[in-house]
Amino acid sequence: MSLLVQAGWTAPEGVMHGATLWLQAVIDGLCELSSRDALTGLNNRRQFEAAIAREVDRVARIGEPALLLLADIDHFKKVNDTHGHAAGDVVIRAVAECLQDCVRPMDLVARVGGEEFAIILPNCPPAFGQAVSERIRQKVAAKTAAIVGGQPLSVTVSIGGAFAPPWVRSSAALWSERADQQLYRAKSEGRNRTCLDMPPLTVVSAEEKGLLFAGLTQSDLTEPSGSGDPMPKTTE
Ligand code: GH3
Ligand code: MG
Ligand code: MG
Repeated sequence: MSLLVQAGWTAPEGVMHGATLWLQAVIDGLCELSSRDALTGLNNRRQFEAAIAREVDRVARIGEPALLLLADIDHFKKVNDTHGHAAGDVVIRAVAECLQDCVRPMDLVARVGGEEFAIILPNCPPAFGQAVSERIRQKVAAKTAAIVGGQPLSVTVSIGGAFAPPWVRSSAALWSERADQQLYRAKSEGRNRTCLDMPPLTVVSAEEKGLLFAGLTQSDLTEPSGSGDPMPKTTE
């Protein structure tokens, strides 16, 4: 309970009217706490992994383009070494805030490592991918973090991105791997840049889309997403 209070949780009014209400509020508070990164308040890695698994299924079933961006602060070790770990923490928080401000409410921003962030952008057409990631990169570069007793600091990020292949059975691991390769490329090409793995231009025919759903009954197809197995079953 003290953990919840430390994290800003307050007990609901009218505690005496219902222990159930109070218990539910404690459970909700714990769920919220376990999904958040303590330093930045962003989604944590666990939340990101659940979200990317859902998104990869959705893209395969609905064919809507989705973009995954991985952003890593450039030369961050130098920030810590020069200004101290506490200043480094302030910079990480400033970058997190900037990333969250840059995206739509439907997008998911997570801190997935020390100075590494992931953004899932559902329904993002490939034609907009470069502009979106460039805008994020530029906003971070323009942001300054106020350091107590020191000069304001600014940092840059390298961004790697990949689109989930629509109408294809893929996996979160393969999708992340492609974005990670692009991040590696952005770092090796000089940092403070974005590199994207664009989806192939091949047009998937209606027949091929049909094959993805082969063996499904009408009720499988109309079942609301999130209930039951989200992936279409195949005929073995
Ligand atoms: P690159 O441009 O190749 O990404 O270089 P880099 O210096 O950013 O990369 P590197 O992985 O060498 O350094 C990351 C540093 O981030 C090392 C680690 O001490 C620091 N770090 C990780 N988590 C935290 C944190 O929560 N707070 C602070 N202040 N530093 C952290
Ligand atoms: Mg890193
Ligand atoms: Mg780094």
